[in-house]
Amino acid sequence: MPASIYVHIPFCVRKCRYCDFYSVSYHEELVARYVKCLCAEIEERARDLQQAEAVRTLYLGGGTPSLLDPACVATIIDKIGSVFGILPEAEITLEVNPGTVNLKKMASYRHAGINRVSLGVQSFFDDILQWLGRLHSRQDVKTAFDVCLKAGFDNISIDLMYGVPGQDLSRWREGLDNALALNPQHVSAYLLQPEADTPLGRSVAAGEVELLSEEEELAQYELAVDVLTGAGYRHYELSNFARPGYECCHNLNYWQGGQYLGIGAGAVSFLKLNRYQNDPNVDAYIQSLSAATQPPRSVLECLNEEGIVRDRIVLGLRLMDGIDVEGLKRSYEVDFSLLFGSSVDRLIELGLIKRKGSKLCLSRKGYFLSNEVFREFL
Ligand code: SF4
Repeated sequence: MPASIYVHIPFCVRKCRYCDFYSVSYHEELVARYVKCLCAEIEERARDLQQAEAVRTLYLGGGTPSLLDPACVATIIDKIGSVFGILPEAEITLEVNPGTVNLKKMASYRHAGINRVSLGVQSFFDDILQWLGRLHSRQDVKTAFDVCLKAGFDNISIDLMYGVPGQDLSRWREGLDNALALNPQHVSAYLLQPEADTPLGRSVAAGEVELLSEEEELAQYELAVDVLTGAGYRHYELSNFARPGYECCHNLNYWQGGQYLGIGAGAVSFLKLNRYQNDPNVDAYIQSLSAATQPPRSVLECLNEEGIVRDRIVLGLRLMDGIDVEGLKRSYEVDFSLLFGSSVDRLIELGLIKRKGSKLCLSRKGYFLSNEVFREFL
């Protein structure tokens, strides 16, 4: 345990308007030191974990991991392989910003062991991309996708964003059609969230930006579900759609309550019953590992049996397959009916969740109102 590893690469060329992830500017020398520290942390954590399993899923996320030289990516994968072992069939994902790659680079990533690409497209309209503060253009998306195919990638996911001011329902439909024309194996559709501590959040609070209404956001979400499922994608998680067999194994492990190890500044781990987070500060991270000590890590949550069940419900309800209530009852010593019976009855009555055999899952009405459902179990 665990068989899933997330590696955080906290470097970006510049900050997108809506982003509240911790990231710093890319400098080659800083990145080289950071990668060295990632390798040191991999060894440190392996010592802690004792019986570590070979890796089934590895996810390099950010930030902008595709800013890394392929040799750095190879160094990270090789280190994980030598310390934990990587299964031959492992899913190894790299998040790619379309404005940062060319054929040589993608071919080198493929050679380094990356076999799945998550392409941060967000929109197919240049004015929207500029408004969001993204680096890339519509043409960059097409070029990057083409380059991924030419480099031999056959498992490509694209991220799209809905609920963006200036992108009405017909433009969103056009964007979905553009996505389908690329024929990716996987599509993620996320709602633009104006987090308070971002330039966008501040503009919204100051009344300078008007967001779409909830009805408009719902209409865009519903359209994504209809268009993507109509094109043969399985809607397997609230925001995720995949061709059969191309669901993201790394994220499935997370939603199914599996353990994972997070490596890098700000990375979160879920080990035994605890959720930890490494200090997000890149300098502090580098300093501690350069001094041969483990990076500062805080405990976000220490879950007891009841906490684990609540966690499993909230994460599991994100999946269209739902959660196996009987399985939870068998695995954990909690009185499910006493704790959750009235919430479940109420949510069924409201039409937000439904029973499917021994499982509970969100109804179509519950997809978009999922936060209301989750609040009942927190
Ligand atoms: S590229 Fe990604 S991580 Fe970097 S600022 Fe933009 S949204 Fe945030």
